[in-house]
Amino acid sequence: MAAFAYLDHNATSPLRPVAFESMVEVLRAGGNPSSVHTAGRKARAAVETARRQVAALVGALPAEVVFTSGGTEANNLALSGAGRRRVLVSAVEHDSVLRAAPAAEIIGVDGNGVVDLAALERALASSADEPALVSVMLANNETGVLQPIADVVRLARDAGALVHCDTVQAAGKVPVEVHGLGVDYLSLSAHKLGGPTGVGALIVRTGAPFATDRRGGGQESNRRAGTENVAGIAGFGAAAQEAAKGLDLADWRDRLEFSLVQIAPRARVFGAGAIRLGNTSCVAMPGVPAETQVMAFDLAGVCISAGAACSSGKVQRSAVLAAMGVPADEAATAIRISLGWNTEPADIERLITAWRDLYIRVTQSDISRAEAA
Ligand code: PLP
Repeated sequence: MAAFAYLDHNATSPLRPVAFESMVEVLRAGGNPSSVHTAGRKARAAVETARRQVAALVGALPAEVVFTSGGTEANNLALSGAGRRRVLVSAVEHDSVLRAAPAAEIIGVDGNGVVDLAALERALASSADEPALVSVMLANNETGVLQPIADVVRLARDAGALVHCDTVQAAGKVPVEVHGLGVDYLSLSAHKLGGPTGVGALIVRTGAPFATDRRGGGQESNRRAGTENVAGIAGFGAAAQEAAKGLDLADWRDRLEFSLVQIAPRARVFGAGAIRLGNTSCVAMPGVPAETQVMAFDLAGVCISAGAACSSGKVQRSAVLAAMGVPADEAATAIRISLGWNTEPADIERLITAWRDLYIRVTQSDISRAEAA
């Protein structure tokens, strides 16, 4: 049995062996892709192979791929690259969208976390002459809930607005097709699909306006200056090629949720009424703080997270669950379980056992406290 069950793929997914191998090969070879000599040309070839692999994952043209340092930079680049516009974002976007556009108008979501299309339509109509950019993610990182991007694009197009879509959590888990979705900008991150951390891409649709704010060399066709992270990009390409085969984990996730609710009947699965990623479950064990659950599961050899992982390691109130109208005390008991490419049935069994043990411990101590009172 593995040392621990890793069920936190939405935080980061372990590096796929093919990605590791291609990175080692590139690291050994060295070379700057801008150099014209043999070593440079080899590095350039590695970057261009990866560009084709990443483009294929989302049905883009290779020339539409701009490599970045990750999903955060891709989101920032999209919001700045679209130029001076009115920005409209959903309330459940990742911080790398929300903080990159602090003046953005926030469009609410329903109790399942699905964007309110009528509110978006009204907001777009309220200032129809002003150029706008709408940014709505495809899949939410905390709940896995999928947004109706085709409808978002239709409304935006009717109002003459551009659309950015953060597909960092969706790519490799559900089919993503940039031209099928009809979006202008699309963000990706390697480490969410089994590539390395610190590399991602922004897809810029051919013909979409794009003004870079990066100053330096002319890398990435003048769209993102800086010597390319060649090994990271190669690992991203290899992982993207593997991820394109898809992940079919919904049956496992459903069985897992069924077991958790059977053990703790008042447990609540957030976003359960919406179409969701098959790998993600955001679930509350009633009365047990998320931090307590994360620690108890960790001791039992199971890695999960409390809502969104924060860089400080501190757990803050989930803005996503708040936007869905979940009361603060209930949101404080929500954990996120996310499966991935190397998840085994034994990992899920281990989580169910840990959940049962903790729930029994907590309910028994509640009973003893009540008896002692
Ligand atoms: N967008 C979403 C939906 C995410 O979940 C994340 C990471 O958690 C990001 C963007 C940022 O990606 P990265 O970690 O590559 O900067």
